[in-house]
Amino acid sequence: MAFENLSERIQKALKNLTGKGKISAEDINTASREIRLALLEADVNFKVVKDFIKKIKEEALGKEVQESLNPGQQVIKIVNDELTKMMGTSSTTLTKSKHIPTIIMMVGLQGTGKTTTVGKLANQLIKQEKARPLLIAGDIYRPAAIEQLQQIGTELQVPVYSEQDQKNVAQIVENGLKQADQNKNDYVIIDTAGRLEIDEPLMAELEQVKAVAKPDNILLVVDAMTGQAATDVAQGFDSRLDITGIILTKLDGDTRGGAALSIRAVTGKPIIYTGQGEKLSDLEQFYPDRMASRILGMGDMLTLIEKAQQDYDAKKAEAVATKMKENTFDFNDFIDQLEQVEKMGPLDQIMKMIPGMADNPQLKNANFDKKQITYVKAIVSSMTEQEREDPELLNPSRRRRIAAGSGRPIVEVNRMIKQFKQARDMMSKITKGNLKGMDQLPGM
Ligand code: GDP
Repeated sequence: MAFENLSERIQKALKNLTGKGKISAEDINTASREIRLALLEADVNFKVVKDFIKKIKEEALGKEVQESLNPGQQVIKIVNDELTKMMGTSSTTLTKSKHIPTIIMMVGLQGTGKTTTVGKLANQLIKQEKARPLLIAGDIYRPAAIEQLQQIGTELQVPVYSEQDQKNVAQIVENGLKQADQNKNDYVIIDTAGRLEIDEPLMAELEQVKAVAKPDNILLVVDAMTGQAATDVAQGFDSRLDITGIILTKLDGDTRGGAALSIRAVTGKPIIYTGQGEKLSDLEQFYPDRMASRILGMGDMLTLIEKAQQDYDAKKAEAVATKMKENTFDFNDFIDQLEQVEKMGPLDQIMKMIPGMADNPQLKNANFDKKQITYVKAIVSSMTEQEREDPELLNPSRRRRIAAGSGRPIVEVNRMIKQFKQARDMMSKITKGNLKGMDQLPGM
């Protein structure tokens, strides 16, 4: 999970401030020191850290904070606001051309995930706007890059323009754009070559492509796992190509977060998307405020809801909401929901987006084994239709039968049924607007 270490340490530094009736300058200095170290260890650019700490101190030592009723929370708010600013304040979207096609040129070093991201972006545009993109294979040096893009094209049922023996990339792009005009594609996404490091021939080639394509967007793909080095790469590309935005890939494997936190402040260019896995659906729009909340363990319900909505049928959602309210949510609905959740991605990542869950010690050690979902499904499928609709029928002898049928221990069956009932009661309360008890959840 991205930012795991940083998140833990900042939260620890801030925890000491919450609940205090009054906080002293010394308290703020101590917390600032810890946050500073945490950021440096997360590989955030030192100048960015310095400015950040300076602002935190200035604001936190301000009169209003010290005199406020809840100074600890005020400081958390300041840290949250400054973290958000560090990553760019508001979310940035693609620039759309007035006339079709909108042209997107992807650049970046080799292995950062450029080709994969071309596919992810096409996939997202298709899903969100029913777009009809054309992909242009402009990476003619890396063996298999063209085939990789063609495979992605087949998977997404999107045309890919490529030329086998052409060595002039700008020419390929020019021809590809003609095809897009003929076919009236609304987006063109150009994959370009990368190298292990920035060199002159690469930059010269990219400048030629830029001159021919006149892209509306030049997106730099950088690997989050390279930390601060990513910011140097970004500066290098930006100085030659004047990039319009950044896509930060492999955030799923980046436990430190240095690139995500420094790159905007250092280059002045916004992160537009993040890559969070290898699948074509693993691309998220970047929201600085939501990312800051996630780092501070305050959850990210908005992203969670959007993830759910992407594949979710609104009518079904409404029906489930009614059932929750009426407390008639049954095991069939439960399995249905589990399947929806499974579609959204790895459970441990999803749980961390729920407020209060990110720093929940129980969650930290929980092992979200995909098998658990399979076991729950096995238990439910060993129930009769009547039992699924009416969990009250589940007496001890029925439970024994279900345990035998599903091959799971009876204690597990009992625990699952108990948890199901508790969750159902809680959902019913929440949907009726009775939030009593919710405030006892951590982080609320
Ligand atoms: P390119 O050389 O820049 O075109 O890189 P590729 O698109 O071939 O990607 C290199 C490797 O990174 C592949 O194995 C991808 O599956 C992987 N990859 C790309 N994006 C992500 C991401 O967001 N998360 C993870 N975990 N892997 C990614």
